[in-house]
Amino acid sequence: MTLSAIAPRRATVGESTTVSRYLPTRGRTTVGAWCFLDHYGPDDVDAGPGMQVAPHPHVGLQTVTWLLHGEVVHRDSLGSEQAIRPGQLNLMTAGSGIAHAETSPPPGERPPVLHGLQLWVALPGERRAPDPGFEHRPELPVADLGGGGARARVLVGELAGARSPATVHSPLVGADVTVGGARVEVPLDPDHEHAVLVAGGTVAVEGVSLGTGSCAYLGRRRRRLSLAGDPAGRLLLLGGEPFAEPLVMWWNFVGRSAEEIAEARADWEAGRRFGDVGGVPGGSTARVPAPPLPPGRLRPRR
Ligand code: MN
Repeated sequence: MTLSAIAPRRATVGESTTVSRYLPTRGRTTVGAWCFLDHYGPDDVDAGPGMQVAPHPHVGLQTVTWLLHGEVVHRDSLGSEQAIRPGQLNLMTAGSGIAHAETSPPPGERPPVLHGLQLWVALPGERRAPDPGFEHRPELPVADLGGGGARARVLVGELAGARSPATVHSPLVGADVTVGGARVEVPLDPDHEHAVLVAGGTVAVEGVSLGTGSCAYLGRRRRRLSLAGDPAGRLLLLGGEPFAEPLVMWWNFVGRSAEEIAEARADWEAGRRFGDVGGVPGGSTARVPAPPLPPGRLRPRR
């Protein structure tokens, strides 16, 4: 099949971070188990609040935080406190319930530019409520793609012989591919569907020129992907076995039924289940209240 463009919509995350949101989108909820994809920056955060995402809950998913520039501090209700920098992975498994906050370091202590990606992975039915957990992976494998310095840092799953140690619960791949000015063929798992998001420069994907911020769904049954970049060419490659279960997604929750979502919301509002996130120096400590449920019944996305 040919490439199919995924157009982003603009959204605001926390107090001040404007993002381009690619998933979920009309007509497509998932790529593999990837069910949420935000791209933000590069933003000048030297002045102003920077990223200020106050404590909020999640269920039924894993969050992946991946920075291209800058620094963000993660805190969660398990007591984790972890600064994340480019090349490192923060992977939080919400499972039955967790709360977290993500904030820029205080002014004067933060790098001036913030640029990154926030993704969610839907947990499959039989594993959707494991104990919550948090993994920081400062060292990730890098696959040499064999063409003029092109390489892929593998966040999750396996690509071109490099396998990430990060814990995932379905056949999945995510990689940050530095194409540069090279021309390469990246081997893919034909059982996976894939998508790409260009995060820097311009990359010709299967001969189609995509600029920064362009996202394309690639379908299944590809054994290789041809990439040709300009010197700044860089993209995120996402894939996995198509996720067969219909998902009910609302606010920060991924579930299977309207009742499950309503119960998670009620527990957050009542201060049950999710625990407390410690203080956030230089940022807001107020927890984010859940919005009202929409009128009518929440329906599964397909
Ligand atoms: Mn979150």
